[in-house]
Amino acid sequence: MQMDCLLKNARLVVPRQGIFEGSVAIRDGVVAAIHREPFVGVETAVKVIDVGGRYVLPGVIEPHSHLGRGSLTDDFRTESWTAALGGVTTMFSYYTRPTTYHELFPTIKQAVEERAYIDFGFHFNVARDNHLDEIDSYAERCGVRSFKFNMARSGEDAAGPPEAWDDGLMHEGFSNVARVKGGLACVHAENVLVIWRFRNRIVAQGREDLAAWSESRPNFCEAETIHRAYYYGQLTGCPTYIVHLTTKEGLQVVKEWKKKFPAAYVETCPHYLTHTMNAPEGKLAKATPPLRTEADIEALWSGLLDGTIDTMGSDHVVLTREQKMIGIWESRPGFPGVTTMLPVLLSEGVNRRGLSLQRVAEVTSYNTARIFGLYPKKGTIQVGSDADFTVVDLDVERTVRAAELGSFSDFSIYEGHTLKGWPVLTMVRGQVVMQDGQIVGQKGWGQYLYR
Ligand SMILES: [Zn+2]
Repeated sequence: MQMDCLLKNARLVVPRQGIFEGSVAIRDGVVAAIHREPFVGVETAVKVIDVGGRYVLPGVIEPHSHLGRGSLTDDFRTESWTAALGGVTTMFSYYTRPTTYHELFPTIKQAVEERAYIDFGFHFNVARDNHLDEIDSYAERCGVRSFKFNMARSGEDAAGPPEAWDDGLMHEGFSNVARVKGGLACVHAENVLVIWRFRNRIVAQGREDLAAWSESRPNFCEAETIHRAYYYGQLTGCPTYIVHLTTKEGLQVVKEWKKKFPAAYVETCPHYLTHTMNAPEGKLAKATPPLRTEADIEALWSGLLDGTIDTMGSDHVVLTREQKMIGIWESRPGFPGVTTMLPVLLSEGVNRRGLSLQRVAEVTSYNTARIFGLYPKKGTIQVGSDADFTVVDLDVERTVRAAELGSFSDFSIYEGHTLKGWPVLTMVRGQVVMQDGQIVGQKGWGQYLYR
């Protein structure tokens, strides 16, 4: 049979199965055949790509970004461009609005279809009473089945719009999400009422350093709140996904809950695996939750290696250097990271710590697709799945230069860092979007993913 494309001379990393030498034949954007042996020329194809024995991972799925802070619509162009440079084939963005998301949805869906190079899904933040009643209709009409609950936004931090959050809203929200088929609660777990007391004391000392920001949000505030989120998840029967885990104490709570609550999931981010509160990047590296210590970094790596941590997300926030270099207490938390997420895992995980490519494929694609309702369309390499692939070269060394990454953001906390292990080809539904560090895809190729 005539195929559209043949990826040959590949080492296919198939989650939960193994690594196989072989080739993948693609037709109409999906995997049509897999040959688990050196290519012997079974099919003819319009296009043949010889990947030279490199590893082919299922396309990287980035579950955690915040688009719309550069431009509501054009961020889909710039940030999907930079994501594709980092091997990402599907990206999710969180949205927070005081009003109904039915107003926002048509605009951002259309922006994906007109501007994105890769596929997209959305998550909506449940922050107001009016959102509670609409959870069902967000699932039915928008295909959005994952909802954010930000426990760090109550008390003084949520004094007025757009968010007014409390445990009661979380309980009712979880109950409503539990009734949605494939529903998932994504929880930012920090106890902000405790944080405010620490914060007032540290601000009064006149400190402006990055470590002061971290010390104002101590580790136990995360651990305690993870416990509470999972408790409500179990109580209401709502699958519960902790976003951006940062602490060794939190990891311990996750481990304990996973024994008794099978729908307890957890994500971490690259920066919590590489940067401490004393990072030389200073104010640029302010994030919420904050950067921690070497001991926390080591604990998170162990959680990745042993399978406790389910997914990686970059918590990519579209901000500029200028927005970051004001007072540490006033600046917006977060920074861009989608492009460097996979290189950090390959460089610091695979090359330096013996993390297996199987685990990389699980935490960047397979688990993510399963948890967010995209599997088996995405998340694996098998006949019938979308032909989304990330081809990686473990030996390529590159020094990160934000100016080359194409994001609306103009900085990286990895600026000047040399990472070993980079994606060299990104394919989305059979179309090559990035090859050898160049974007070769088409704007508007991206699809919105109803779930
Ligand atoms: Zn976030």
